[in-house]
Amino acid sequence: MRTAIRKKVLVFRELPPDQLARLQAQHDVTLANPRLPEQLPAFEAALATAEGMIGSSYPIGEALLARAPQLRVISSVSVGVDNYALDALAARGIVLCHTPGVLTETTADTIFSLIMATSRRLVELASHVREGRWSRNIGEDLFGWDVHGKTLGILGFGRIGQAVARRAALGFGMPVLYHSRRPVDLATASPELVGKATHTPLDELLQRADIVAAVLPLSDETRGLMGERAFGLMKPGAIFINGARGAIVQETALLRALDHGTLRAAGLDVFATEPLPLDSPLRSHPKVTALPHIGSATVETRHAMAVLATSNLLQALAGERPAAVFDAAAM
Ligand code: NAP
Repeated sequence: MRTAIRKKVLVFRELPPDQLARLQAQHDVTLANPRLPEQLPAFEAALATAEGMIGSSYPIGEALLARAPQLRVISSVSVGVDNYALDALAARGIVLCHTPGVLTETTADTIFSLIMATSRRLVELASHVREGRWSRNIGEDLFGWDVHGKTLGILGFGRIGQAVARRAALGFGMPVLYHSRRPVDLATASPELVGKATHTPLDELLQRADIVAAVLPLSDETRGLMGERAFGLMKPGAIFINGARGAIVQETALLRALDHGTLRAAGLDVFATEPLPLDSPLRSHPKVTALPHIGSATVETRHAMAVLATSNLLQALAGERPAAVFDAAAM
C-alpha cells in the first residue's frame, strides 16, 4: 500500500478541534496566528516550508508569498478573498480556495438584522430599558420606521444578495432593486424572485431605494464605491447597510452624510480598519448600529466553513481538484 506523503501545513487562524485533527492525521501542522505578537515568529518560520496554508482575516500579500517558496495552496476560511494578492498567486500557480455557499443564509440573516435594527432603532431602544430610562411610553421622537413595504436596493446580487432579497421580497413585501455588472437570470438562480427583483443602474438604485444594502466583493472597482457622491444620491431619510467589506465605503463621507446629510441611519458589520479603533466616530455615533464583523459568526456556520476549508486543503494537497476553488474570473 502506498503511504501518502505528509506535507507541511500552516494554520494561521484557530480551527475547531475536529478539523484540526483531520489535518494532523495526514500532515505536519504548525499552528501560528500572526495577529498574536507572540506567535508571529513561529508563523514567519513556518512560511519557509509551508506547502499549504489555512486561515482567514490576515493579509497575504506579495512580500509574504515571497517568503513561502514551497506554497501550493491557500485555503481561506471565508468567501471574500480581498486579503490575498490574487495576481501574485496566479503568477506562482498557487491554488486559492474559499467557502462560498455555506455562509450565505447566515450572512443574509445578519444583514437583515441590521435592516431591522436600524429601521426600528432596536439597539438604541433596548438600551433605554437596560439603563432604566423606560419611565413612560416612548414618544414620537423615538418611533422607528417601517421595514415592510419599503424599497430595498442591494449592491451585489450573488449568493448573499439574493438570499437577502428573498427575505425582503417574500417575507416583508419589499420591492427589490439590485446592482451588479450583469443582470441575473432569476428563473435559474432564484425563481422565487422572478418579477420581484429588478436589475437597476447604480445611480438610479441609490435614488429610489429606501434602504441600500451592500454585499459585493471588495475589488479595485468597488473600493470606495460608497463615497460623497453616492451618499448624496440616496433618498432623504434612507438607510445604508454594509455587509460586504469596510473599504467599499469612504467612512468620512458616510459620517458627513449622517451628520450633515439626510441619511437616517447606518448599519455596519464591516469597517475599513478592524477591529474598529476605539477613537473611530462610527463606534458611538447615535445613528450607527455597529457589529464586530459577525456576518457568518454562528456556531453552525463557522463550523461548516471550517469543514469546507479543511476539505479544500486536503483535496488540493492530495492532488485532487478542491470542492471550492476561487474563480478569479468573478472579480
Ligand atoms: P458572489 O455570489 O460572488 O456575489 C457577488 C456579487 O457582486 C455578484 O452579483 C456580482 O455580480 C457582484 N459584483 C462583483 N463585482 C462587482 C462590481 N464591480 N460592481 C457591481 N457588482 C459587482 O458573492 P457572495 O457569496 O454573495 O459574497 C459577497 C461578498 O460578501 C463577499 O465577497 C464578501 O466580501 C462579503 N461577505 C461578508 C461577510 C461578513 O461577515 N460581513 C460574510 C460573507 C461575505 P457581477 O459579477 O455580475 O457584477
